[in-house]
Formats: sequence, structure tokens, C-alpha cells
Amino acid sequence: VTADVVELLQQLIRNRCVNNHETRNAETIASFLDGSGLGCEFYEKVPGRASLVTRIEGSDPTAPSLLLMGHTDVVPVNESRWKHDPFGGELIDGYVWGRGALDMLNLTAAMAVAMRHAAVNGVRPRGDVIYLAVADEEAGGVEGAEFLVEHHRDAVMADYVITENGGFPLTSTTGPKLPVIIGEKGYARVTLDVRGVAGHSSMPHGADNAIVTAARIVQRIADHLDEPQLQDSWRRFVRSMAYDSDLESALLDPARFDEVVDRLPDGIGPRAHACAHMTLVPTIINGGVKDNVIPDSVQVIVNVRTLVDHDEQAIRSVIESAVGDLIARVAITVDVQAGATESPVDTPLWDILQQSSASLIEGAACVPMMTAGGTDASAFRRAGAVAYGFGLYSEKLPMSTFVKLFHGDDERVDVDSLGLSTSLFSDVLFRW
Ligand SMILES: [Zn+2]
Repeated sequence: VTADVVELLQQLIRNRCVNNHETRNAETIASFLDGSGLGCEFYEKVPGRASLVTRIEGSDPTAPSLLLMGHTDVVPVNESRWKHDPFGGELIDGYVWGRGALDMLNLTAAMAVAMRHAAVNGVRPRGDVIYLAVADEEAGGVEGAEFLVEHHRDAVMADYVITENGGFPLTSTTGPKLPVIIGEKGYARVTLDVRGVAGHSSMPHGADNAIVTAARIVQRIADHLDEPQLQDSWRRFVRSMAYDSDLESALLDPARFDEVVDRLPDGIGPRAHACAHMTLVPTIINGGVKDNVIPDSVQVIVNVRTLVDHDEQAIRSVIESAVGDLIARVAITVDVQAGATESPVDTPLWDILQQSSASLIEGAACVPMMTAGGTDASAFRRAGAVAYGFGLYSEKLPMSTFVKLFHGDDERVDVDSLGLSTSLFSDVLFRW
């Protein structure tokens, strides 16, 4: 089984599906599943970008269904910085190298191997188990997950979903802690139209220069920080990590959280910080017309990442309090592109992931974690599913290493981790 997952992953990497041409990976997976008795369906919104769906029927049509979802596209590379060919899929000293080895062709392959294994061995879960190898995750899923949820809901929708990423072991004195990604922040684009009065740049005394006002506003936005919002999942995470008692109590105290967040091990400080705040980041600025004209208009774009209870009104009021008395000089447009999503922790799928993990990694305990970025899980949460990000990784891929390689140079995965993830999905299927 481990040989199967290594070989399939190598082929998926070599297919070079850089957020395009995912049909190649869908076909590779279809030929891998060929002969198992599983029937494959292809769905595509755009030619060449097919997603593949297959299904094992459950014995009880009223039992909840499970979707194993892996994306088939990858992000681009800067080839000159890699030690080995990023699309070679080479197996070197126990690691498979290449773009997608961790994000997330490893899990996409492991899920396919688990499905084939279950089908060949006649495993019959109680509820349906669906496998989806989906295109276009890396550009937001418009040609993939979103399209399928909207137009082929019957083919892909399930009560529960497992997708990327999670499962990288965190340091703890009480055994390996494996984060299950239960939610993702939301995303909004705020446009600030900063106004001034046009004039001749030869006489700046008393002028109202929109660039100067915009600079002050940008600084205020960069300096703004709300009181942290510590959610239930965060409290549960902290309590299960067995940090020393002073760190633990500070991490649970909104008044002390920001001063201790950088003491978190495994490099999770920035993520924990992001998941406790609405963040505001100025990312684009446009303004000025001519080098001898005092500008009367500047546009500042602020990328806002929201928490679960933040709507447009909440974004507006945070922007207003950041900008302060300069608010009269600004027109604000808020474009909420996606709200944050979060799944509950007390579910049957959580219990199965906990049992399966503990049976494969001694003493392992699942802990809930939010992520600041986005994945296809959000499309399924919005449609009503409970969705978690999870896989299993060996000690060779602790979170600190995982984060460095994810979308980074020299992306690679060790064979032990591939075996663990495959065993996990097989075991989950068996217990479902
Ligand atoms: Zn991914």
C-alpha cells in the first residue's frame, strides 16, 4: 500500500498541474482506480480542468455520508532555487520531492489508495463514502469546489468532509498533539478613497494633499490592534496542549494574549495571533496624476481577514476606529468576499479521527485549530457540511518544517508520512 501511494504521488507531481490542466491528474487517478470496481465520473467547468468523483455506497442510506476531498492542482515554483527537479517526483533517501508533495497531492494520493484498497477488499461502510479529486483549489476553487457544490451538488455533497491539511505533530509534554483544522478566516477587500484638494505643487503651504493624508491613515491602520477574541476552539486547544501554567493562563486571557503569543512553540505564534484578531493589511495604493500637481484623490486597498462573527458592519466599525478623526476625509467601500467558517468539534467524525490517529501514533490526541488562509473546506461548510482538515505526518514533518515547505522551495514528503496518511484514511473508511 505504501508503494502504491509513493508511485501515485510521483505521477501526480510529474503531471505538473500548476493550477491548470488538472484533467491529467484526474486521468492518472482514474487509471489507478481502474479494476477496483469503482466507477469514476468527470466534471469540468473549463475544458482541461476536470475533477474526478467516485463513491462507495454505504449499507444504510440514512447514515451520514463522508467526502474525502483532495485537490489536484499545485502552485508555481521558482525552479532555480530547488535542489531537485520540482516536477521530477524523485524518491531520494526516503522523501518524495516535488511541488505538491505536501500541498496536497500527498493526501489526494493517500485518499485514492485508501478508496481502492477498501473497494478491492469489499469494505462496506454504513454511510456513503465519496472521493473527490478536485481542480482549482489554489485559485479559490471557482473552477472546482465552488462549481461542484453549486452545479453538481448530488455528486459531491456529504454530511462530513475531510480535506487539507492538519495533522502535523505539535510539541507537547503529554504526547503528540495533532491539529484538526476546523475553521478558516474570512476575507474582505476594503477600498478607502482618500480625498484632498488639487493644487500646484510649487506652493504647498496650507495644501490638502491626499497622499499625505493617506500616509497617515495607512500608518494608523498598520498600528491598529483590537482586543483579541479568544474563541472556544482556541480555549480547547490551549487546555489540551499542556503548556506551563503561566503561559496557559496568559494565552486564555485577552489582556495578556498579545504579549505572550510569540512564546508559543512550533512557530504557531503568527497563526494564533491571526486567528484571534480581525487583521487589516494595506496591500495596494494608487494616487497622484502628475509630478507638479498636489493630488486630490488616493485609493488605498486594505485586505481584511475576519473571524466568524464579523460582518460588513463589524469591518466598517473597526476601520472607522482605526482611522479615527481622519474618517471625514475618506469614503469607505467594503466588499466581503467570503465570511469565516467554522465546524463544531463534538461530532462523530472528530471521534473517529481521534480513534484512528491514536491507533496509528501512540498517545496521539487531536486538537482543534483555526487557519488564517483558505481551502475548499469553506465551500462545503457554507453548504452545510462539517469539514475538517487532517492528514497524518511522522516526526520528520513537525509543524515548523511543514510550514516552511508548504508553497516553499524543496517541498517534499517522507515515505513514513505517506504511509501514515494512507492508513488513516483506510481506517476512517473502515470505521465509517
Ligand atoms: Zn492545498
